[in-house]
Amino acid sequence: MKDTQISPSEWEVMRVVWTTHPITSKEISRILNEKKDWKLATTKTLIGRLVKKGMLTTAQNGRQYDYSPAVTEDESLKEASGHLLNQVCTRKVGELIEMMIESSTLSIGDLESLENIIQMKKENAPEVVACGCIPGQCTCS
Ligand SMILES: [Zn+2]
Repeated sequence: MKDTQISPSEWEVMRVVWTTHPITSKEISRILNEKKDWKLATTKTLIGRLVKKGMLTTAQNGRQYDYSPAVTEDESLKEASGHLLNQVCTRKVGELIEMMIESSTLSIGDLESLENIIQMKKENAPEVVACGCIPGQCTCS
């Protein structure tokens, strides 16, 4: 399995490449300049890391390189949320999701699809979620 855990700065680069590709490092840097005070060298360093992690593919285009995403945004979001959920006790996942919902601005459509998911989940929900933590890493036992 490839290492697709990426830093917040690397996410900024990925979002540009997901939106527009193939794209050169100069173009990525120009777009990010609106938001970040990064030099071209910084953007190039981030791109290099993402290539190493298998998140970006490269193709030579004359004297420069074109970059494209090697994974979709959806796949990456799914993986990133999985990593986050794995960092807490399974019994705290509900609380974590509550916090995420509470601190987000959600559309009527978002809320309706959340309601649907909750309805479906309710049909097979256990009374209590099992805790898989090692002793000393949570207060369940
Ligand atoms: Zn636990």
